[in-house]
Amino acid sequence: MPSNAESQLHAVNAALRARLAELEIKLNNLSAHSHDPEYEVFGAAVKASETRYRRLFETAKDGILILDADSGVIIDANPYLETLLDYAHNELVGRKLWELGPFRDIAASRESFQKLQATEYSRHENLPLETKTKEIREVEFVSNVYLVNGARVIQCNIRDITERRRVDASLHAANADLAALVSALKKRDSEMQALFRMNDLLQTCSTQEEAYRVIVLMVEELFTGMDGGLAIRHEGAPEYELIASWGETTRMAASFTMDDCWAMRRGQPHEVLDPQSSLLCRHFLAEPETGYLCIPLAVQGESLGLFCLMADGTGTSEQQINRRNLALMLSESFKLSLFNLRLQEKLRNQATRDPLTGLFNRRYLDDSLDRELHRAQRRKSPLSVVMLDLDHFKHFNDTFGHDAGDLLLRELGTVLTSSLRQGDISCRYGGEEFVLVFPDSPLADTQKRVEEIRILIKSLKIRHGERNLGPITVSAGVAAAPEHGYTALELLRAADGALYAAKQSGRDRLVAYKASA
Ligand code: GH3
Ligand code: MG
Ligand code: MG
Repeated sequence: MPSNAESQLHAVNAALRARLAELEIKLNNLSAHSHDPEYEVFGAAVKASETRYRRLFETAKDGILILDADSGVIIDANPYLETLLDYAHNELVGRKLWELGPFRDIAASRESFQKLQATEYSRHENLPLETKTKEIREVEFVSNVYLVNGARVIQCNIRDITERRRVDASLHAANADLAALVSALKKRDSEMQALFRMNDLLQTCSTQEEAYRVIVLMVEELFTGMDGGLAIRHEGAPEYELIASWGETTRMAASFTMDDCWAMRRGQPHEVLDPQSSLLCRHFLAEPETGYLCIPLAVQGESLGLFCLMADGTGTSEQQINRRNLALMLSESFKLSLFNLRLQEKLRNQATRDPLTGLFNRRYLDDSLDRELHRAQRRKSPLSVVMLDLDHFKHFNDTFGHDAGDLLLRELGTVLTSSLRQGDISCRYGGEEFVLVFPDSPLADTQKRVEEIRILIKSLKIRHGERNLGPITVSAGVAAAPEHGYTALELLRAADGALYAAKQSGRDRLVAYKASA
């Protein structure tokens, strides 16, 4: 009888053998591709995935190229790629990559293929490919190496980015245009601000000379590096005088007439674009080699001057037009300010000057003598007042006529003006009587100077028509502050007293005030 243990061992052995036999059958079934349901499920899944991949390959909106990773021979290409490059399927498959037109020109494509073999991945952001019909397609080119059934293949994904690049480029251009516009606007803005600033400054100028300085500064700021000049015609003068010029190359004449400038002759801006084939103005020292713009400065038919700007040939035509418009705007401001200042100066002159002699009038003396006396007191400096009167002028008028008398008065005005120092005041006090104020001049100095003037007047040789006028003599009375008075009234009275004494003692002389006089 077999023992209990033995019979158990037999049972286990039998079970193991039966399991082994079962496994063998299964193994045989598997190796013979039997119809095991598990295997069928797996095989069907593989097939479905392959179909899906194939469909993707066929319908992809990117070009796909499959290469043999060892030889570079094209194994497959999808329809999108064929359309993209205008090649038929059979013109691609079986050829080596670099033998094909589109890829032949890719710089060092063979080398990059070798690199790809080593690294198993490559990417080109932007490759130009030429189609069969010689059109250029910009593409992004990504390659991967992978294994299929133990063989290495390369899949290249080729994306047409021509449109994207075109959009990029036009966006870039639009951006650049926008940036240019912004910078042009900024420039225009700063020009406008400079213009406002200039107008502001011009309005606070009290003389034309001040205005010239403002204009020069502004032109230098707004037309940096450009040649040009500003010429002004003083009232009644026949010629235009160059008062400022910019730049080195084109020089304007120091003075010229209206006939020398086409703009002024025609009363409107004259622009020369090509100096070879245009009417050139004659106010240049040498014929200009560039174009230029002349703008006449005229208001109410009165020609005040000329603003001339040489073209420097830089910038776009739009920038040149802007510069031209800016020059025209600037000129409008120049001429209005200059006209305004001229008018103001004229009115000021009319209010303070005697029209016959050009000397100050009595009203001006009243204001200025007080002012000078205050200043002398503050500084503790002397001040002299001279009263001067023509001798026997009534008789002179009776002898030579009133016109000759006027001529003499004018001559006297000229002599007095030219004999004065800066700060001295000469005025026609009335009729043939004049008052001179010498600040900072003590009595003795004043006497010396007036004596010289008196002798100068006596020596005047004046002709009126056919006749010689004269000789003419003057009498003068001198008083000084502080010794003869502190106020204008006191000093004028003292000088008048001295003048009376001069007349009384025989005329043609100078008398200093004496308290007893
Ligand atoms: P005296 O030496 O005392 O000063 O004698 P006088 O003749 O110069 O003095 P008087 O005051 O008697 O005469 C001044 C003359 O000056 C009278 C007037 O006809 C003349 N006169 C005043 N203003 C003008 C003027 O604007 N033009 C001319 N031609 N004569 C003038
Ligand atoms: Mg007199
Ligand atoms: Mg008199």
